[in-house]
Amino acid sequence: MRIFTGLILMLLLTWTQLAQAVTNVDNIRAWLAPDNIRLVFDLSSPVKHKVFMLDNPQRLVLDIEDTKLDLDVNALGLSKGPIQKVRTGKRGDGIRLVLDLDSEKISPKSFQLKPNDQYGHRLVLDLALPEAARAESVAQKQEAKNNTGPLRDIVIAVDAGHGGEDPGALGPGGLREKNVVLSIAKEVARLIDAEPGYRAELIRGGDYYVSLRGRTLKARKINADLFVSIHADAARNKSARGASVWVLSGRGASSEMGRWLAQKENGADLIGGVGSVSLEDKDDLLASVLLDMSMTASQSSSREVANRVHSNIAGFARMHKNHVEQAGFVVLKSPDIPSILVETGFISNPGEAANLKKSSYQKQMARAIVGGVKAHFWDRPPSRTHIAARKRAGETLARSESTYRVAPGDTLSVIAVRNGISLDQLRRANQLRGDRIRVGQVLKIPAS
Ligand SMILES: [Zn+2]
Repeated sequence: MRIFTGLILMLLLTWTQLAQAVTNVDNIRAWLAPDNIRLVFDLSSPVKHKVFMLDNPQRLVLDIEDTKLDLDVNALGLSKGPIQKVRTGKRGDGIRLVLDLDSEKISPKSFQLKPNDQYGHRLVLDLALPEAARAESVAQKQEAKNNTGPLRDIVIAVDAGHGGEDPGALGPGGLREKNVVLSIAKEVARLIDAEPGYRAELIRGGDYYVSLRGRTLKARKINADLFVSIHADAARNKSARGASVWVLSGRGASSEMGRWLAQKENGADLIGGVGSVSLEDKDDLLASVLLDMSMTASQSSSREVANRVHSNIAGFARMHKNHVEQAGFVVLKSPDIPSILVETGFISNPGEAANLKKSSYQKQMARAIVGGVKAHFWDRPPSRTHIAARKRAGETLARSESTYRVAPGDTLSVIAVRNGISLDQLRRANQLRGDRIRVGQVLKIPAS
């Protein structure tokens, strides 16, 4: 009997202790993407919660048990999206959050994240917005430019790494990779859109997160001819520096740096918020066999673009290696879309961070990337594109800002022919007397 009473006492104690362990909502972050809204609750401990919808008017209810909230939810700036109003109230020992929604159908999803090096316990609420609202802009843009018969534009998917809950690499003075690369990506997209025969699509246009697979999926949805992912590096060693250009490695990484870089960039989904769920395809063996087979064609295109972008950036920036590197980045794993990843520099290096922060440097980086892309597609335009038609009509590419890095086997005259300029023009632009060039030398390619 005494043991029994003791047991009850113990249970009671545990129960009271549990009941007293009230979780605190320390902060709420809101990330507004065109296709979803993500709310992230920073919690002092894991919680029990429930999400459900109610009609007339349509609203979403989030109940969190045994939790306190002393925050102004109206400071989240959610009113721009399909959320009309946010209300909070007490419910038993917990809280209830009610989001008044537009009449649109919104499907909610929620999950919890364990602490990582940036954040503690988190509850994530994802609201996927209806398809109709997001498809519009792509279709409109296409129509606006496709008004010249059956020819099409070359489509470039421009991917700014990280975003939203995932800041990417951190630099001095609060400089964040996600912001730097978004500025560069926007400039790349602007330059491409300004180019007749081209159209750019930003994989993310603001400060929100897109999953790694979601990025390649979006590129496929818009029928991208090329996927360009833009990043900035960080290393524990502050003196590490240099920009680099990457393509997907066939098997593993080509260098130690590639291995850890891939690990770091691929880890983004964990911070961005899919929790412990791996986005890797389940059937990895099959995937890798298929990949090997279908990669060959797009892999060689990826290499060609990467080489041109590499030599363009080398025209003004220090490079990490004097060649294109390889690693197993998830975002490069589209078997059918040539894909490159540009690490624009080390944000952890004070000198390079200072550069990367400058709008003029960001623009220079963007021009180098776009120059490489244009030069590649001028060489190998996809059929039925405006660029292919213009090339057939005998136009030559204006290469006012182009540079080229001499590869083994190159001769000055071959480079001149390839770029549609005379040998003499090439010599003059580079102040060369004879025909001697060396491998690795960067030549200016003048406008033809
Ligand atoms: Zn990155």
